[in-house]
Amino acid sequence: MLKVASLQNNPFGESTYVVSNPATGDAIVVDPGMLTPAEQEKFDNYIRRTGLRLTGIVNTHMHLDHCFGANYVRDKYGVKQAAHPDDTFLAESMAEQSAGFGVPGGRNVTIDVPLKEGDKIDVGDDSLEVIHTPGHTPGGICLYSPSSGFLLAGDTLFKGSVGRTDLPGGNFKTLGSSIKSKLFRLPDKTVVFPGHGPHTTIGDEKTSNPFLG
Ligand SMILES: [Zn+2]
Ligand SMILES: [Zn+2]
Repeated sequence: MLKVASLQNNPFGESTYVVSNPATGDAIVVDPGMLTPAEQEKFDNYIRRTGLRLTGIVNTHMHLDHCFGANYVRDKYGVKQAAHPDDTFLAESMAEQSAGFGVPGGRNVTIDVPLKEGDKIDVGDDSLEVIHTPGHTPGGICLYSPSSGFLLAGDTLFKGSVGRTDLPGGNFKTLGSSIKSKLFRLPDKTVVFPGHGPHTTIGDEKTSNPFLG
């Protein structure tokens, strides 16, 4: 069984997730959004307090708010950055994203490990499955845990909403089809942890999400 902890970061209210395997002590961080020294310290304290061994960084996509802490974690913990290569243009345009959102602090991120649909990300002796869900960004992915019944959805699917599609590379039709053809096939009881806001379930979004009628 895997465990999910969330940390709120940066002016966008982004959720950074630490997925850990209590049986082995291994953990990965998903969407490291810590921007300020205080946010970095909160993350470090969590890792230290739990005694977890951080083995990698995975990004659901390469928007600024999900990447502020990527270089910090990569340098401090000596771990590699994994993401879908279709978001490389975003990883390499953090300065422009910073200017566009009026929030300074973005630094370009290097994707060390390219991910694709169906890849498995090890967390100790358990793993997460990569589901490619383009639409919010071309390289957007969700991470699914079959053993523990949860989905890290990035900005693809929110409680009662979906990710915006007006940013570079976004496409509403593609997003809708990613969600319906891939995410809505998961078990209804799957708990969804989005990149912003409260968690939900696949079953709840199937029946009540107004953007996916
Ligand atoms: Zn985003
Ligand atoms: Zn976001």
